[in-house]
Amino acid sequence: MPESPHLSLRTTQPTHFGQGWISGVLSVLLGILGLGAVFCFHFPSVLTMPELRELYPVPWIRALLHIVLAGAFLLGAISVCLRYNKALGLTGMGLTLAAWLLGGSGVSVDGELRTGPFLGLDWLLLNVIGYSVVFVPLERLFPLRSQQSVFRRQWRVDLIYFAVSALIVQGTTLLTMKPAMIFFDWARNASVTQFAGSLPFAIQFILILVVSDFTQYWVHRLFHVIPALWRFHAIHHSADVMDWLAGSRLHLVDAVVTRAISYVPIYVLGFSESAMFTYVAWVVIQATFIHANVRWEFPWLRPLLATPAFHHWHHSAAPEAVDKNFAVHLPALDWIFGSYYLPERWPDSYGIAGGPKVPEGFLGQLAHPFTGMRGNLKG
Ligand SMILES: [Zn+2]
Ligand SMILES: [Zn+2]
Repeated sequence: MPESPHLSLRTTQPTHFGQGWISGVLSVLLGILGLGAVFCFHFPSVLTMPELRELYPVPWIRALLHIVLAGAFLLGAISVCLRYNKALGLTGMGLTLAAWLLGGSGVSVDGELRTGPFLGLDWLLLNVIGYSVVFVPLERLFPLRSQQSVFRRQWRVDLIYFAVSALIVQGTTLLTMKPAMIFFDWARNASVTQFAGSLPFAIQFILILVVSDFTQYWVHRLFHVIPALWRFHAIHHSADVMDWLAGSRLHLVDAVVTRAISYVPIYVLGFSESAMFTYVAWVVIQATFIHANVRWEFPWLRPLLATPAFHHWHHSAAPEAVDKNFAVHLPALDWIFGSYYLPERWPDSYGIAGGPKVPEGFLGQLAHPFTGMRGNLKG
């Protein structure tokens, strides 16, 4: 392809192994990771979570940062050698160089630590590392669809959702918890909260799961049946590929409203902090896992807990699966309320029936519910 430009940002060359595309993308991702970590060292007050700051083993992080930057540079160099279009490789190397110029792994911690508004850049970097270390190998080793690449269609958009939700974690946590605290404080009763908080840990955890999923079920169902709300939730269903990253695609209004309402009964009942914390960790992992491209069917778990097959059917474009499987944790809720659908096979396709009617870019999707796009969006 001699006429293709050397530095085009558009991918016109093959992207499979050996073409320098994978090394280029990895170089850019590692470069961003390394540069982000260096920024966290420079501006800890505004780029790191106060809850995490005290927990960091700084010497280990420096060692890891060193490996990340060296890896990014090396992969960038490999991509430049393999690929006619040098844009990816040079971008990865440039990011690494910038990180080194700003101090690299020897960067000093700048400024006095203050509390106030912050972006969870460290939270984002930890999430990127944690999720990719667990889910990428899992989906490569036990794939439902083995032809599906990690860098499948629209992975960039979903990565933006992933990044934005981690960066604004302070704001979304506040918006999730504050409304319950402000508007439902009157509903809290000391004897009830004391009783709930004193129950055995496992009982509290199960109760939180039941109470929050009951609320979540109905909020989710309303997001499907009320057209004005569906415009927000359609963004989540616009993903036509299922993997761990696809679950991140949630309109901010959808995510915050659902979480804030689901938090109300938990707040009113007043469970212990440790049970709440375990529940939050559980939600994050399960909500990601049920979208994953893994072939495990968990036949013994089907009636008890939402599995990938259960939620994949929620995303199915097949007419018989529309408005089914609203629960995030407990399929029993769908069974009780008549929306359970789980045949002995996997869906053929995902997305909104009748084709995509949602913009493909992040900003377009953010604006989409407000643009009053009329018509029957739902399949
Ligand atoms: Zn839904
Ligand atoms: Zn989903």
